[in-house]
Amino acid sequence: MSVDNIRRLAQLPVTRKQLLSLAAVAGLGGAALPASAPVNAAAERSTVIRGGYLITMDSSLGSIARGDVLIIGSTIVGVGPNLSVPSGTEVIDASGMIVMPGLIDNHRHMWESLIRGRSVNSTFGQYFTDVPFGVSTRLTADDVYYGTLLGAYEAIDSGITTVLDWAHGTNTRAHALAGIRALTDSGIRAVYAYGPPASATAADSPPSTDDILAAKALTDNAPMVGLAIGTRNPETATAQVWQRIQQDIRLAQQLGVPVTLHAGLQPVATYAPRMLDSVGLLNGNVTFIHGNLFTSADLALIKSRGAHLTASPLVEMQMVGPDILPASVAAGIRPAVSADIVAASTGDLLDNLRASIASHRMLAQQAALKAGTTLSTLPPPGLRDVLSYVTTNPAAALGITWQVGSLSPGKQADVIVIDSTDLNLFLTDPRDAVVHAAHPGNISWVFVAGEVRKRAGELVADLTTLRANAKAARDRLG
Ligand SMILES: [Zn+2]
Repeated sequence: MSVDNIRRLAQLPVTRKQLLSLAAVAGLGGAALPASAPVNAAAERSTVIRGGYLITMDSSLGSIARGDVLIIGSTIVGVGPNLSVPSGTEVIDASGMIVMPGLIDNHRHMWESLIRGRSVNSTFGQYFTDVPFGVSTRLTADDVYYGTLLGAYEAIDSGITTVLDWAHGTNTRAHALAGIRALTDSGIRAVYAYGPPASATAADSPPSTDDILAAKALTDNAPMVGLAIGTRNPETATAQVWQRIQQDIRLAQQLGVPVTLHAGLQPVATYAPRMLDSVGLLNGNVTFIHGNLFTSADLALIKSRGAHLTASPLVEMQMVGPDILPASVAAGIRPAVSADIVAASTGDLLDNLRASIASHRMLAQQAALKAGTTLSTLPPPGLRDVLSYVTTNPAAALGITWQVGSLSPGKQADVIVIDSTDLNLFLTDPRDAVVHAAHPGNISWVFVAGEVRKRAGELVADLTTLRANAKAARDRLG
């Protein structure tokens, strides 16, 4: 079996296990391209990232102190030290740099890039009055296009190669289709979670089933953009809205796409996991967002049904309270971290990881002081333990583990290179450096499906017209 065949198979919805067994049959050993492998370099561009510190997030490969990543076309075909490469391969010198899979954000309201920073001093209630029930009602389809495109470029610049757009700037079907077009035009890998308009309260609010099917038709023809359904929080819903939520989840299951919903932000008698389970709709297709107040029984239910959880630490702390990440890990869940709204929070996932760890350390210190003692050790997790929250765990929640989330032969070439010769990272253990201090300015290279989207620190995009259009839209929205 040729490398080209392996590459083509990597585009099909097969499991990683199947891919690795195919690679083993082909003599690839599941980790590296053999020196003599035949490659049609004229037809497929090849790139090798040489000599970096590889944080693969692949459990069978681990971290490699000095290794290479070989990309052919859109696919990773080799990961390991001293790889032989086809003639004509572009070589990127990654000496002193960290190479890892692209980051994955599985909950971000992309259009809000137009109002970045508007809500940085808002409470939850103030934000809701001003944004979902205020500015979002005035959005045009063009506004959604510019905000989403701007947000996608910001995400790529900060090392995010896959994003779930929790779309609630969906006043009409045209708004939704504009959002999908923006994601497609940006080159990012995306999942468009078609939700109701942010101000929707009625059970028959958009999107209709026809709206969803129109979006599905558009994403079916966009290889880099998939579909999900965003539905409402059942915890405080009317009986009619609760029925609609169940219809939304059933439609997602029929279409074979994920479903995602916000829940667990205010005290109620019964939280969403138990509600969904009571009607047979809690399964691996479902991702809960926030979940701050979920009980240990709710977490156990999420775990036992294979459902997922994502939290947005900076938004949690500003608008709700501490995130539930350590408790969810203790319950056996593999959680994700997401940015949520750049109206209130940074869009940098690494900032969110840092914030989560700092907040839980602070709470542990506070509890120790209150008990008249001091901590002998810090509570888990440690800095290097949380990279799964922005790589493998959200990939699993989105159902695309076979495609992204780790540097593994056969997966899509979504790869980032972090310049750890920069002074804010220099001499730090690479496994800690990423969460300790890395920021978008340290992200040197970003590949999405093998395409260079950031090159030697420069975003590959012409932002001049977009900046002007986005600013005009923002000024008009007020
Ligand atoms: Zn949200």
